Amino acid sequence: MEKLKILVDRLYDTHHLEKDEYITLIENRDSIRDYVFSLSSAVREKYYGKDVYIRGLIEFTSYCKNNCYYCGIRAGNKDAKRYRLSKEQILECCETGYDLGFRTFVMQGGEDPYYTDDIICDIVGEIKTRYPDCAVTLSIGEKSEESYRRYYEAGADRYLLRHETADCEHYSKLHPAPLTAENRQKCLFNLKKIGFQTGAGFMVGSPYQTNENLADDLLFLEKLQPEMVGIGPFIPHHATPFRNMPQGTAELSIFMLALVRLILPAALLPATTALGTILPDGRELALKAGANVVMPNLSPTDVRSKYLLYDNKISTGEESAQSVKSLESRVISAGYKVVKTRGDHASFTERK
Ligand code: SAM
Repeated sequence: MEKLKILVDRLYDTHHLEKDEYITLIENRDSIRDYVFSLSSAVREKYYGKDVYIRGLIEFTSYCKNNCYYCGIRAGNKDAKRYRLSKEQILECCETGYDLGFRTFVMQGGEDPYYTDDIICDIVGEIKTRYPDCAVTLSIGEKSEESYRRYYEAGADRYLLRHETADCEHYSKLHPAPLTAENRQKCLFNLKKIGFQTGAGFMVGSPYQTNENLADDLLFLEKLQPEMVGIGPFIPHHATPFRNMPQGTAELSIFMLALVRLILPAALLPATTALGTILPDGRELALKAGANVVMPNLSPTDVRSKYLLYDNKISTGEESAQSVKSLESRVISAGYKVVKTRGDHASFTERK
C-alpha cells in the first residue's frame, strides 16, 4: 500500500509514470482507489472548483462509411436506421440549446461523405455568425490536414477524435483495414498543430484490451497533451461482430478517468453517456473522481434512438429542455454546479 501511495504521489507531482508503474496501479486499483480519488478530485477542484460545463450534443448523421467492429452505426449494419439533419435542423438545435444556456455545440456524426468540407464549413460558419459567443466542436472522424485547417478557418474551436487504443496491434483487432492507429494518431497531432482544443480518448474494456494497452493509452495522452479526454466503457451492440463480447466496467472506467485527471490536471473530462448507460449513477461518480463536463443531447427527439452506437444507450425521449433539467439536478445532487459558459480549457483564450 505504501509503495502504491508513493507512485500516486509521484504521478500527482510530475504527471508522469513509467509503463510498468501504470500497470501496477491498474492491477492493484482496489487497494489504492480511494487515495487516487481523493487526489484526482482535489486537482479538479483546484482548476475548476465545483463547476461542470455543459455541451449541447447534436448527433447530425447516423451514416458512416467505416466498419469499426464495435460500433452500432458501422456501414455493415444493414439494420441501422439512417438519418441526416439538414443545416436548418442543426441550426434549430442550436437555437433551442442557446435559449437553454448552452455556449458549446458539438456536431458529432459518423464519417458521412454527404457532408463535404464545403457543407461542414458553411454550417460551422453560420453557427458562429449567429452565436459568436459560442464554441463549436466537431467530431466527424479522420480527415486530411487540409480539411481540418478549413474547419478551423471556418470557426470550429474544438475537435473530438478518440484515439480508441494507442497500441497498433490492438487497434487492428477493433478496426478493419484501411483504418490504422498510425493515421488516427497522425490526425490528432495535426489537430493540435492547427490550434484546435483537441480531444482524444478510449473505450475501457474494449475486446482484447489488456492492462498493458491501458498503460499505453496513458503514455499516449502524456505525449499528445490533449485538452479533452473522453473515456467510457465499451458496450456491445447486438448487430456488430462484437455482439457477444463482455462490456467494460464502470469501476475501471472511473479509475482510468481519475488517473487521467492526475496526468492532465486542467483537462476537460466528460462524464460520458456510456457510463450513465451501464450504471445509473455512473456520471455522478465520474464527476466525483475528476470529470467536469456533461454532454446533454440536443438532437431532435425523433432521431435520437437512431444514433445507436451500443445497446440500451440512455435516451429519455424527453425534450431537450426537460433532459437538461434532469441532468442539471443530477449534477447538483452530486455536489456540483452547472456553469453556462463556453468552458474552454484553462490554457485557451477565446479566438477572435
Ligand atoms: N465518427 C466520429 C469518430 O470516429 O470519432 C465520431 C462518432 S464515433 C461513433 C464516437 C465514439 O463512439 C467513438 O470514438 C467510440 O469510442 C464510441 N463508441 C462507438 N461504439 C461504441 C460502443 N459499442 N461502446 C462504447 N463506445 C462506443
